[in-house]
Amino acid sequence: MTANAAEATLEEAAVPYRGEQPYGIIDDVIVPGALDLDADERLWVPQSKDVSFRPLILSASQGYFVNILRVRKSGILSRHRHAGPVHAITLKGRWHYLEHEWWAEEGTYAFETPGDIHTLVVPDGVEEMATLFHVTGTYIYVDPDGNPTGIEDVFTKIALARAHYEAVGLGADYVDQFIR
Ligand code: FE
Repeated sequence: MTANAAEATLEEAAVPYRGEQPYGIIDDVIVPGALDLDADERLWVPQSKDVSFRPLILSASQGYFVNILRVRKSGILSRHRHAGPVHAITLKGRWHYLEHEWWAEEGTYAFETPGDIHTLVVPDGVEEMATLFHVTGTYIYVDPDGNPTGIEDVFTKIALARAHYEAVGLGADYVDQFIR
């Protein structure tokens, strides 16, 4: 390659794509400060007195959601079965499942396999646990014998978030920015 040709290739590398994007493409989702646990309290959607979540994406089209779950109590959180895969990155605190030996601690990545039934516990002494969960499909709350007692999925998350954002004055449609 001549010096001139090398220069031309370098120049081309910095040129933005100049064609059209594919027809049908949908909008990006950009959430600034996504891991900021001290962000505007109104963003956190309460699930119960001590448990709330902050949505990052609510994928109605593919049936999954990514959110940060924040728990401010110790003890049993829930027993559930996953119909789909889960990816979990613990940001703060620590937790574990009664059925497994491993612990999720700050910085731990965990893959939860579809079909697994487990009981989440936040140990004594942890004032706040925060974990980024990517949950596909439904998770089913179960009793100790595995009988279903309730479900959670992207649509229950959307419904909770809509009601909360309406109640705190952001408007029910505030949730729309997270839905794809
Ligand atoms: Fe789980």
